[in-house]
Amino acid sequence: MSKFQNGKDFLNKHTLVLPINQSTNRQIIFPCHLGIIFIGNVSTSMLNKLRFHLEQTFDSFFYGIQFIKNVNIRPEIFELRVKEEHNLLNKSSEKVLLQPTNKFYEIIVDKKFEYKLDIGLGLTNLPIYSSSNEKLLFLFGEAHIKYMSAIVSTHNLIDLFNLEDLKLEKMERRIFKEVIHEIGHLILDCGHCINDYCVMHFSKNIKEIDSKSIYLCEKCKSKLKKVRERDNI
Ligand SMILES: [Zn+2]
Ligand SMILES: [Zn+2]
Repeated sequence: MSKFQNGKDFLNKHTLVLPINQSTNRQIIFPCHLGIIFIGNVSTSMLNKLRFHLEQTFDSFFYGIQFIKNVNIRPEIFELRVKEEHNLLNKSSEKVLLQPTNKFYEIIVDKKFEYKLDIGLGLTNLPIYSSSNEKLLFLFGEAHIKYMSAIVSTHNLIDLFNLEDLKLEKMERRIFKEVIHEIGHLILDCGHCINDYCVMHFSKNIKEIDSKSIYLCEKCKSKLKKVRERDNI
């Protein structure tokens, strides 16, 4: 059976590996150390704006945000466990190599140890698929609560066939939303929000990312407030 038999539903999904009710004991006390790890060929020019948005959303949750640049997948493991698939978004006849999310968690967990981080988020230009559900191809991002790690892929955040899309600002805003979304999963220990304007809303395509805001809704803000009160920050 073709992986695309069910059409676009398989595309562009992001998922939580562990649903909230299966997540384990609290592992982190806030404030904590957050690291953003640039894996592959991702521009770091957005770094200050990203820091601004993270600090604005998760005010006082971090001692600081470290940016770890120029991290690459080691050549000897690059081709391991990859999936070769057509990218339907960019309508190219060429197949691309998708990397499994576990490979990124391995890198991130490693960097967390090296840089003494509590939460690590990888940002990559490479296309990804979910190691926990291999039907989920070309993910925007995924969070893994047990590892306190997340990965965001910029690969499908730009539609090369849509000229409008080439605006850098628009592209960056999508990245910021997805980064905040995945970190939101880790901090709030929650699933998706039903408010389609909330940054914690699940987006199945870039149009839906564009139509949601970069902010938490009031309900999600109150969840954040509860974590804040719990940890006295
Ligand atoms: Zn999500
Ligand atoms: Zn919400």
